[in-house]
Amino acid sequence: MKIPYTKNTTFTSFDKTVSITTLHQKPDRTRMLEESITTFQIPRGSGLSYVPASFGQDTLVRELSPFNRILEFDVKQKTVVVESGITLKKLLEWSFTEKLYLPVQPGYPDITIGGCVAANVHGKNPHKYGSFKEHVIWIELFHPKNGSRILESKSELFEATFGGLGLTGIITKVKIQLRDLPSDRITVEPRKVDSMIESAEIFERNPNSEILYAWHNGSILKNFEKGVVQIGSFSEGFLGNNLIVPKKTTIKKIQIPISFWGKFTIPLFNSINRNIETSQNKIEKDIFNNFFPFTFSTQWYFVLYGKKGFRECQILVSKNNIRDFIHDLTSLIRKEKPDLHLMGLKPFRGEQKFLQYCRDGLSITLNFKNSPSTSHFLSKIDELVMSYKALPYIIKDSRLPKNIVEKCYPQYEEFKNLLKKIDPDRIFKSYLSEQLNL
Ligand SMILES: Cc1cc2nc3c(=O)[nH]c(=O)nc-3n(C[C@H](O)[C@H](O)[C@H](O)COP(=O)(O)OP(=O)(O)OC[C@H]3O[C@@H](n4cnc5c(N)ncnc54)[C@H](O)[C@@H]3O)c2cc1C
Repeated sequence: MKIPYTKNTTFTSFDKTVSITTLHQKPDRTRMLEESITTFQIPRGSGLSYVPASFGQDTLVRELSPFNRILEFDVKQKTVVVESGITLKKLLEWSFTEKLYLPVQPGYPDITIGGCVAANVHGKNPHKYGSFKEHVIWIELFHPKNGSRILESKSELFEATFGGLGLTGIITKVKIQLRDLPSDRITVEPRKVDSMIESAEIFERNPNSEILYAWHNGSILKNFEKGVVQIGSFSEGFLGNNLIVPKKTTIKKIQIPISFWGKFTIPLFNSINRNIETSQNKIEKDIFNNFFPFTFSTQWYFVLYGKKGFRECQILVSKNNIRDFIHDLTSLIRKEKPDLHLMGLKPFRGEQKFLQYCRDGLSITLNFKNSPSTSHFLSKIDELVMSYKALPYIIKDSRLPKNIVEKCYPQYEEFKNLLKKIDPDRIFKSYLSEQLNL
């Protein structure tokens, strides 16, 4: 069957480790979605996932970015119904004018609401605000064989679609609960820390901060584990009527042949950055720059990994295991000396279901240069993750083996069974879903 409005496109995961050329459709009307296309397919938002979750071999990629309208606003209830292709940036630009905001903002403004649902993302203090599902009232899900249906919060398919990696169908609309925006600025107090345990203790003392995360140096050559905790809260009142949003936020497509991040550049860069970040006791910035602090520097950070790209793994450790896990992790790093750049920490809260990355505990992110030694080291991390029954964040780690996800996510089998029930022919698939045997 000839599928209308398609072309061939080469898609590459954000970590640059997987590229595939396949059929690409950018529907701009609901009718185009409803034309009974039952070929293998996968929805796509902005394609900003580190992993190949929104494309796959011989799979029709259905990009939702033209579905980007705000459809309904209930001023009393502070709720908004949006199309799933709307970006965080566009939603924030509008909600700012109503002095409202969505507190869960993952790190890049061009991420879509559909992508936020399908990965059940988190923001700058997941302990205070939980994950994305806690801010959604209902979603509209379209399946070419089953049509459209509204899924209310906490229903089985609603839970499976959050973190469901686009495998339950195409999310077309989302009703979101917004909150009052207290100010157009956030004041952050950066604090120097010497260890990850120190950051975890600071998190415990400041659970209700608007912003709460830390980064630590990953190089064992110098200043290993030294880092900065960012604690932020809203300032008083509004200084301006306009949200300061950079005109261009799109990720650069520049490529350098080899990685700039190496044995000596990593500790040097982290040490300079630590001193710059903590040179003032308090830093007040507009909300856009606080929600998306790395919009521009991030681009260079990733570009500097070179054409082979990078690897990231993010692990959620249960509350009771935090100290032991950090001890074992740092011992492993000292022993294996991986090409590790940064370790990021965030406190977490939430009730875990299906493939959702949430529970009460601490999330630890590790960033590496992509190299054979990194792959070897990550296989050791996999063993550690399994021994602690920790959760690996599927949307961040494109080499995650199937058996780790199977062992660490208690409802892995239930998720697969549910997919078979709603979609016996399993028409939704991606490179990632095949790798994880989902
Ligand atoms: C710089 C950077 C910082 C980040 N920071 C964070 C962070 O702080 N916290 C965090 O949790 N994540 C973070 N992420 C990851 C990001 O939030 C997720 O990967 C998100 O899913 C990307 O959204 P997207 O619109 O680009 O979706 P895509 O990458 O296009 O797709 C991601 C998944 O969502 C599915 N999908 C997309 N749209 C739909 C739809 N309409 N219906 C059904 N399924 C759909 C796709 O099939 C795919 O499985 C970050 C990513 C980047 C690049």
